[in-house]
Amino acid sequence: DVIIRGEDVVKEYQTGNQTVQALKGIDFGIRPSDFVAIVGPSGSGKSTLLNLLGLLDVPSNGTVRLRGEDVSTFSDADRTNKRKRTIGFVFQSFYLIPTLTALENVEMPRMLDKTPVKTRERAKDLLCRVGLDDRLDHYPDELSGGQKQRVAIARSLINDPAILLADEPTGNLDRDTGDQILALFDELRAEEDVAVVTVTHDAYVADEADRVVNLVDGVIEDAGETESREEIKQ
Ligand code: ADP
Ligand code: ADP
Repeated sequence: DVIIRGEDVVKEYQTGNQTVQALKGIDFGIRPSDFVAIVGPSGSGKSTLLNLLGLLDVPSNGTVRLRGEDVSTFSDADRTNKRKRTIGFVFQSFYLIPTLTALENVEMPRMLDKTPVKTRERAKDLLCRVGLDDRLDHYPDELSGGQKQRVAIARSLINDPAILLADEPTGNLDRDTGDQILALFDELRAEEDVAVVTVTHDAYVADEADRVVNLVDGVIEDAGETESREEIKQ
């Protein structure tokens, strides 16, 4: 039942005649209802891993499989299609369109949809789902930070993704509002089997996750390994 799996994944970037190895052969797997936190210092490969999980990029070496299919064999168009149907994205800065209402923002990813009535109903359902049924016609400026993030989460769900990728989703929110977002993630996991993968600098968010991927210089460190290194230092 694994949605996406990585085996011995290497990602290199070429800048001029220099090669940077951002990921150095890591393994990962995301299953329905998972809550995984990706943590690590700046430059450790978090964004690179998120881009691979989001089907925005493919590995330089090793394999990433989406439901068993090697993503490196997909055409760009195919990968884009699968991304739209599999992945929802949520960001620290919400990225709502200021001239559209909450409802229109949620409908946005399906603007070219052939059945706009269905899309409207689904968008209303989702805004209801995130507790904003009384804010459908409000513009982003008229919403609090937590409400904006809930609109962004509703928008990320419009195509029924299997995985929600959240990059610092609570980074702009106070603790109480962040708690509401974490509670919403829990509901979505329990009731819709959505897997949530979040990059976070917030230890509090990482504590809530059922799995923490700790990246250090392109490698996943497990707790045991960190401990033994500490012992060696002492
Ligand atoms: P953070 O640590 O908060 O994730 P970074 O500055 O490491 O922020 O990365 C922010 C974005 O910039 C990422 O999407 C990453 O892919 C991109 N990036 C990081 N380093 C480079 C680089 N050397 N050249 C081009 N893009 C980069
Ligand atoms: P993080 O998100 O943990 O800050 P990134 O995945 O952004 O880490 O970056 C990992 C490493 O890859 C860093 O050394 C960064 O400079 C490099 N890097 C990231 N994106 C690019 C890019 N587009 N071009 C060149 N180097 C990059």
